[in-house]
Amino acid sequence: MIITIRDEANSEERAQLMAHICRLTGNQRPITTTLMSSGEVIALDSNVVDVEAHTLLTQQSAVATIHSLKTPYQLASRIFQQSNTSVLIGDGHACTPVTIGGVNAMPIIMSGPCAVESKEQLLSTAHAVKKAGAQVLRGGAFKPRTSPYQFQGLGIEGLKMLAEAREETGLPVITEVMEPGMVETVAHYADVLQIGTRNAQNFPLLMAAGRNSYKRPVLLKRGLSATIEEWLLAAEYIIAAGNPNVILCERGIRSYDPMTRNVLDLTCVPLLHQLTHLPIIVDPSHSTGRRELVPTMSRAAIAAEADGLIIETHLDPDTALCDGKQSITPAQLTKIVYETQIIANMLKEEVESVA
Ligand code: PEP
Ligand code: MN
Repeated sequence: MIITIRDEANSEERAQLMAHICRLTGNQRPITTTLMSSGEVIALDSNVVDVEAHTLLTQQSAVATIHSLKTPYQLASRIFQQSNTSVLIGDGHACTPVTIGGVNAMPIIMSGPCAVESKEQLLSTAHAVKKAGAQVLRGGAFKPRTSPYQFQGLGIEGLKMLAEAREETGLPVITEVMEPGMVETVAHYADVLQIGTRNAQNFPLLMAAGRNSYKRPVLLKRGLSATIEEWLLAAEYIIAAGNPNVILCERGIRSYDPMTRNVLDLTCVPLLHQLTHLPIIVDPSHSTGRRELVPTMSRAAIAAEADGLIIETHLDPDTALCDGKQSITPAQLTKIVYETQIIANMLKEEVESVA
């Protein structure tokens, strides 16, 4: 159930509404409002609202409308919001902002190394991916490695290098945050908070990212073996905590065949466009684990109408400290950007000729 608050509601009317909601939900989680395109909203589990409570809520002067939805995720649902969410990246830092999602938008390319390895490596890669046509720089400062003996990332030093790379190139930056206590620090330096596959159901982290005081957008990767519903409910945690700017990222799911690192589920792209208004991007690097497959799967993702790509690029992939096998070179990235633009333009022309 989604309650939309009247724009004109005063603080007293709001306080009264909150008091009713707190009582109904038994204070299970902090009540946060989210500013969606339709206005300020609060979502509740409709099971806690019987007919009597529903009537009481409808009568509150702070309430504009009440929507009852049958989907488990609510604020993320296309039924609640028909228009696509477009997410602004890079607002609040000196850089060239980009928007992802929306109507007829060109796909956004995010690229950079898996991990920030050194200042020199990051700056030269940042310039190279910019020249190749990427609009957002990626780079992990905190790396969630499967083994505790692998390179764990440069931490806060890596965040500072990302900020410097943004200053030099004008590219907004995206980097992973692994723990709730680090959300504010990462949000201070970065333009987008990435929540990785291993943390895709870390609920305290999702809520902390939703509450980040810098209002940074969140890129939510699909959990290692998450169903689409689990993934959308994870997105719902972020939105319900106050942050409507969520980008979904398909990065492959676990399967039985070790021939590829994961299985890239491209079916989820058109399906998610039906189910949700959130933008969806594809990560052909982690999903395949093989650099020679990245160009083809990038083209396929854009043909499937993904809103963008996140691709690992390294100047010398064979010496990368992390994920070298799936990293491409800037020259390969240039070609991918060119090819995906052709595909995106073709799709756009098709839409325009039918309209
Ligand atoms: C990454 O982007 O480098 C990463 C660790 O991704 P994932 O969480 O999809 O494995
Ligand atoms: Mn990686």
